Amino acid sequence: MSIKTLIVEDDFMSRKVMLAYMSPLGECDIAANGSEAIEAFMMAHAAGNPYHLIALDIMMPEMSGQEVLRRIRQVETDQGLAAVKIVMTTALDDAKNIMDAFKNQCEGYLVKPIMYETLMEMLRDLKLLA
Ligand SMILES: [Mg+2]
Repeated sequence: MSIKTLIVEDDFMSRKVMLAYMSPLGECDIAANGSEAIEAFMMAHAAGNPYHLIALDIMMPEMSGQEVLRRIRQVETDQGLAAVKIVMTTALDDAKNIMDAFKNQCEGYLVKPIMYETLMEMLRDLKLLA
């Protein structure tokens, strides 16, 4: 299975790393901020080719990853869409505490710097990778 991924990340290097990890596994798009992320998510649905996975940075200017997550889940509910798998990415030390607050809305989180094997393990857990 090819994994169509949306990488949402405001930091260039983090984007580059995630793109290097994910691009061999399928089509990847990049959004550099929250409004681009929501636009990409909506466009993919409108084209009938939604994402399998969204890697979503928590700390972004203007619109946080939490807000993007909330809005995507709202659109899915409102429009009766299947829920995309969303993995939050964060550099925060207290990621676990933060994630506990909204873990029911996403599939998990990865602490940056993200290691290749950790990401692959998460993809296997989410049944995106055999
Ligand atoms: Mg960031």
